[in-house]
Amino acid sequence: MAAEQRTEVLLSREEIAATVDRLAVEVSRDYTGKNPLLLGILKGSFVFMADLVRRLDFPLEIDFVRLSSYGQGTETTGNIRVVQGLRSPVRGRDVLVIEDIVDTGLTTTYFLDYLRKKKPASLRLCSLVDKPARHRVPVAIDYLGFTVPDRFLVGYGLDWDEKYRNLPDICVLVESE
Ligand code: 5GP
Repeated sequence: MAAEQRTEVLLSREEIAATVDRLAVEVSRDYTGKNPLLLGILKGSFVFMADLVRRLDFPLEIDFVRLSSYGQGTETTGNIRVVQGLRSPVRGRDVLVIEDIVDTGLTTTYFLDYLRKKKPASLRLCSLVDKPARHRVPVAIDYLGFTVPDRFLVGYGLDWDEKYRNLPDICVLVESE
């Protein structure tokens, strides 16, 4: 019989809301008055970005990029490119990258290197979730929501095969017979 999937809540919507509150306080403390550019990495960061920016009560700008890795499967290959870029000028701006999850760290590292060449005034990383056990390169996360074990997560913007992005909680996928 084919395995069925169900989801189990790992981080509830209440825990997520409290953590986004905390991150908003940290980001506000550092960026108020700087008109920063918040750059979300699509698609996964769209829910987190929407919740975070509504807690930031100062002028800022938002843009999104879409990155893709060559190859298939659930794991990043490390060959990453920008497929939907950046319309906002980066030079001289205070740029804060908004990521849903750091796994191997390859996507984020690639994108931060790409941005650094564009000479922003400052460049920092905010990620809702980190899976340190999976890092293949060192990644410095300036604003971090949760540290989680090595499980595949869905919900709150995160997908499996484009499904589950709309779940309000962050869940693990469980295969059951
Ligand atoms: P990295 O380059 O750090 O390995 O991967 C980053 C990207 O892989 C994330 O932005 C996300 O799109 C995807 N990813 C990594 N771990 C997970 C996970 O547990 N669940 C989902 N849905 N996507 C993940």
